[in-house]
Amino acid sequence: MNSAIRATEDALSRRPGRTGRPRLHLETSSKSTIRAFEGRRSPGRPPDAVRLMHWWQTSFAEPVLSVLFPPRCVGCGDFESHICPTCRATLEAIGPDCCPRCGEPGPVPLVDGRCVSCMGTEVAYAGARAAFVHRGVARRMVAEFKFGGHPVLGRVMAELAWPALSGYLSLIAPDESVFVTWVPCHRTARRKRGYNQAEVLAKALASGRRPLAHGGLARKCTATKHQKGLGRADRQANLRGAFEVEEAAVRRIPPRIRALVLVDDVYTTGATAREVSSVLGAGTGLPVYVFTFSRAVSSATERHD
Ligand SMILES: [Zn+2]
Ligand SMILES: [Zn+2]
Repeated sequence: MNSAIRATEDALSRRPGRTGRPRLHLETSSKSTIRAFEGRRSPGRPPDAVRLMHWWQTSFAEPVLSVLFPPRCVGCGDFESHICPTCRATLEAIGPDCCPRCGEPGPVPLVDGRCVSCMGTEVAYAGARAAFVHRGVARRMVAEFKFGGHPVLGRVMAELAWPALSGYLSLIAPDESVFVTWVPCHRTARRKRGYNQAEVLAKALASGRRPLAHGGLARKCTATKHQKGLGRADRQANLRGAFEVEEAAVRRIPPRIRALVLVDDVYTTGATAREVSSVLGAGTGLPVYVFTFSRAVSSATERHD
């Protein structure tokens, strides 16, 4: 369906997200439109049509919809911005004193470079970091982004998270030899949600203040049970074998790349990060660093506190 028509219909029907705002599907519906123009339905259409759709969306549809339905703060519901200065100030940034291995928010006591959360756990990634602790406004923002039908929040979250990613990149790849990718979702979930929130966030991060090489490298080939409510071991078992690399995409990674940055919206038990990192590491031979917008404080650390 035409992106603008779909977005407008959604907006006018005022299907509410969690904050009562209309749900927008500009990003994904635009992609399906582009795919249609690129050949599936209209193989003979010129590429100009694709550029025209981009222009129409960015120059007309989004600005008009933002006037008709101004953004509201995910924290308090105030109009004018997706996060107001007051709610933004409540975000708990994760500083450099987190666990260097799994990113557990600190300060955390370490034994052989491992915190109480990741001690005894094998991880396939080389390191993990998040921008914010997953509670309060950060938690609501992730929920609204993931389930509220608001992919536009990806850009806002990327802007908020960029200082943390930038600092992390200076540690892991100061020469910009990183390739940004994302946790894939199954096509059924994508169809239902309208977009993959990890992909939207990753692309916004990689296209922001400092352009970084990026692209999808894996697919989720099995529709797994929802992770919520499952324990750590059950989450890992639920995801085992669910992901596989896209061989053609891996072959297109530029030769200068020395590490991957795997982006997701939130790190809870780390089961998804471990599973996707394992597949990507084996498929590319590159170290994988995980970066998420937020990170849950593990129960082990809370008990330790
Ligand atoms: Zn607010
Ligand atoms: Zn740790």
